[in-house]
Amino acid sequence: MADLHTGVQTIPGIGPQRAKALEKLGISTLGDLIAYFPRRYDDRREKKTIRDLVPGEYACVSAMIASTPTVAHIRKGMDLVKIRAVDDTGVLDLTFFNQTWLKDHLQVGQTYVFYGKAEGNLLRRSMASPVVEKEGQEEQTGRIVPVYPLTAGVSQLILRRSVRQGLDQCAAILPDVLPDEVRLAHNLCRIGYAYENIHFPQSDEALSLARRRLAFEELFLFTIGLKRLKARREVVRTTPCEAVDMTPFYDALPFSLTAAQRRCGEEAMADMRSGTAMNRLCQGDVGSGKTMVAALCVYFAAKNGLQAALMAPTEILAQQHYAGLAPLLENLGIRCALLTGSTAAKTKKSISAQLSAGEIDFVIGTHALITGSVEYRNLGLVVTDEQHRFGVAQRTALAQKGRHPHILVMSATPIPRTLALILYGDLDVSIIDELPPGRKPVDTFAVPGSYHQRIYQFIRKLVAEGRQAYIVCSMVEENDELPDERKAVTEYAKHLQEGIFPDLKVSYVHGKMKSKEKDAVMTAFARGEADILVSTTVIEVGVDVPNAAVMVVENAERFGLSQLHQLRGRVGRGQHQSYCILISDNQNEETRARLKVMTKTTDGFKIAEEDLRLRGPGDFFGQRQHGLPGLKVADIGCDTALLQEAKEAAEALLEKDPELKQYPATAARMEELFRQNADAMN
Ligand code: ADP
Ligand code: MG
Repeated sequence: MADLHTGVQTIPGIGPQRAKALEKLGISTLGDLIAYFPRRYDDRREKKTIRDLVPGEYACVSAMIASTPTVAHIRKGMDLVKIRAVDDTGVLDLTFFNQTWLKDHLQVGQTYVFYGKAEGNLLRRSMASPVVEKEGQEEQTGRIVPVYPLTAGVSQLILRRSVRQGLDQCAAILPDVLPDEVRLAHNLCRIGYAYENIHFPQSDEALSLARRRLAFEELFLFTIGLKRLKARREVVRTTPCEAVDMTPFYDALPFSLTAAQRRCGEEAMADMRSGTAMNRLCQGDVGSGKTMVAALCVYFAAKNGLQAALMAPTEILAQQHYAGLAPLLENLGIRCALLTGSTAAKTKKSISAQLSAGEIDFVIGTHALITGSVEYRNLGLVVTDEQHRFGVAQRTALAQKGRHPHILVMSATPIPRTLALILYGDLDVSIIDELPPGRKPVDTFAVPGSYHQRIYQFIRKLVAEGRQAYIVCSMVEENDELPDERKAVTEYAKHLQEGIFPDLKVSYVHGKMKSKEKDAVMTAFARGEADILVSTTVIEVGVDVPNAAVMVVENAERFGLSQLHQLRGRVGRGQHQSYCILISDNQNEETRARLKVMTKTTDGFKIAEEDLRLRGPGDFFGQRQHGLPGLKVADIGCDTALLQEAKEAAEALLEKDPELKQYPATAARMEELFRQNADAMN
């Protein structure tokens, strides 16, 4: 008897050659075959009369062959079969290329079902190369038909037939990896029904039941997998921190923390008091005040006698953090230092010495913090800012400077919680989902290129009022190796400086510049030494120039929504009303819808969710993150509620039976999934 590991060649009609072609689709066993889900469906249920056919639209029609098929050789190797068919309402002319066999197959007076794109006009309807089936023997017409992703040598028909046979062979032996109790508690259909209807849905309802069941199963297994990963994560015992009276810290702040900041702080402090090392991601939209959460943790750690380090991805960010935090914390008796690549060798040495003597409590810096020579006396808390710029390796390198320090990672990429759970399986997640009060939302406009002159005038007006402007002109990603990024930026800057704003100061920055050069330009801009900064997306990350009041993005359609949101976050950081102008000549409906999202909301999480919905998780993080393990049916962008449900079910099951001893089918499937995807999970 067949099982799921039986090769596909056992299916009649699949020989060695076809098997090879199928292998390109990742199908080698019956199990693979039935788990090869359709990309979409064609609804061919409705049959139209010939008269009701709409030229340009696909439709099914039942019609009787009225004329003997004729064959014409139109040119070498190209035969054309012509047939006329009729129903009560009209005449349909059918043509088939290179299907001469139909000539003898289709019989005058017999009725067939045709499915294809209607053509012609009101008087004469026609179809070219439709699907033909004898009435009463329909496989590909008169029903909802699956449409699979294909490869050379495998047609839809072959796949449909193969899957059909695969399903028939496997129907009795499909293991249900969802425990019955879970299935029943969540109103999910049986596995056999799900597989049958995900391929050959009897109705829309059946399809959605099948989808729901399979998506749930994926998310359920996924959650179990994540939990296991977390459980397997090295649990490091640390001396639990003592509770600290935080009042002096709160009192020293010029504002009161938002509820969300407070909650994140509490969560982090609870971690540090727990006796195991903290591993937490703190996520918050630009301007949500993550730095203060970090400061709170630093204060808490310092009062517990631990040293803390904060690592920023760029020199200028490190400087900004230092400028913002040192005065506050020094006042509270915490000794602070700044250590970056441009710190003079002598100072570096002395900071190093003080760090290893424990005379500095808190050091802020860049990569310089993890270079070999720096030693700490008692590094107990490591904070990394804008974590997506750091690899896990750097995080680890800094952590290794201490003995299992607590780790707090701060990210401004507002990843929907669902996705955060998945991408940061090794971290606990806190989300700052609230902005400090009194922020003026950035006014956002999406305009065509014909607005350039007006935009330049607008910039001029703002500059006259003392403000500064960003213009992002690059169309390439920062790490892209395309050679003309530099050119695009320098030429546009030159054009603006010489042609448009000869009386203003235009500076520029791009990703091909050395980081020292970049920092120098940014610092000068922050000091107000230039009016306009032309750049690529290098300014995307956390730099604070409160005086900048307008962000212009050229070719806005080339950026992801989340990226646009990050760019927009560069303005609106001061007391001035700020503006974001997205320029695009792209008329594509989807593009316009995306840009419209930007003009409608400033909520980073909403935007991220929208981005995810429009682009899918693969694009969201670029190729690197492509393909989340085991998720074929579930869409984490859309199935948020289902993920929550599946997650709760998984947690309840693990609570009851952490080793899944009573659920061998679940355990086996889990192992299989994670063996296949070990890399994707880390
Ligand atoms: P981000 O989350 O983008 O790193 P920051 O920590 O840089 O945000 O904070 C942005 C600005 O908001 C800073 O100027 C900071 O001083 C201010 N800020 C932070 N928390 C609050 C608060 N609770 N109330 C008012 N302003 C705040
Ligand atoms: Mg920040």
